[in-house]
Amino acid sequence: MNKKIINKLCIIGVGLIGGSLARALKKAGVVGEVVGSGRDVSHLEKAKALGVIDHFETDILLAVKDCDMVVVAVPLGAMQSVFEKIAPVITNDMILTDVGSAKGSVVKAAQAAFNVIPETLVPAHPIAGTEKSGVEASFAELYENRRLIITPLETTSKNAISKVRAMWQACGADIIETTIEHHDEVLAATSHLPHMLAFSLVDTLAKMDAKNEIFYFAAGGFRDFTRIASSDPDMWRDICLANGDALVEMIKKFSDDLQLLSNAIEQNDSAYLEETFTRAKKARDEFCED
Ligand code: NAP
Repeated sequence: MNKKIINKLCIIGVGLIGGSLARALKKAGVVGEVVGSGRDVSHLEKAKALGVIDHFETDILLAVKDCDMVVVAVPLGAMQSVFEKIAPVITNDMILTDVGSAKGSVVKAAQAAFNVIPETLVPAHPIAGTEKSGVEASFAELYENRRLIITPLETTSKNAISKVRAMWQACGADIIETTIEHHDEVLAATSHLPHMLAFSLVDTLAKMDAKNEIFYFAAGGFRDFTRIASSDPDMWRDICLANGDALVEMIKKFSDDLQLLSNAIEQNDSAYLEETFTRAKKARDEFCED
């Protein structure tokens, strides 16, 4: 029985996210042929040597030719230029999807590049990743039991949505559908704000005179909290620019609460401190497994 979901898949941007998707689909045996595309030939050669892609094309138009699924897995800042390049060859038989961490900016980029957003464009975002980048960091199990959010437009074709769902389900992901606005607000709170806190904390400490001692004494808690500050700076610059409004709102909310905490410490307000920490512990214990 032919269990292929995709005959010819093109991954534009074979890094952590695109590479892991290709690996997972190959492992599941649901893809025929995987073509990679990107800017740097040495990265694509590595992807081929690792068996992540079957072959590559540096000419993006050749890469997407005859594909039934095209996944754009480049940084958010590069989405529009990639859409512009592939616009002349995108047909109704090709499903086009992306993996960008913010969705409003991707749809805006598609609007600018295509003029009329193709019905086969399915904006998507896997809620999975690591602080590492590049194809070397990719692995087939990245999406197992992780969430994949689809933010279809009113005009998005049902057939394209169900193909994209099937692709991610084959990788072990649980699929959720929501609106672009809701996605960007929620992700600003759960992913983008924590990254800002980690980057900002490490940067503050790194600027202190006693930084060597501080980092030397840093224990497990510091490592856990700041792991994500090792994430790719360019990718996070793009995410901040792409989801700025929602993120700034969350930073303000958090700054207000942090100020209240600081006031409570200054005023020896033990009740406030205990209540805050108890509420936070209860919420975390309830929602997180580890
Ligand atoms: P990555 O490992 O750095 O991979 C990005 C890939 O895009 C690289 O292969 C890069 O290859 C290629 N690329 C960059 N600019 C390009 C351009 N202008 N044209 C064509 N290819 C280009 O990054 P990633 O972590 O996989 O992130 C990719 C996307 O996934 C981003 O949109 C990010 O928001 C989203 N995302 C990331 C995570 C995460 O935790 N990392 C999670 C969910 C979603 P070359 O440099 O060789 O071109």
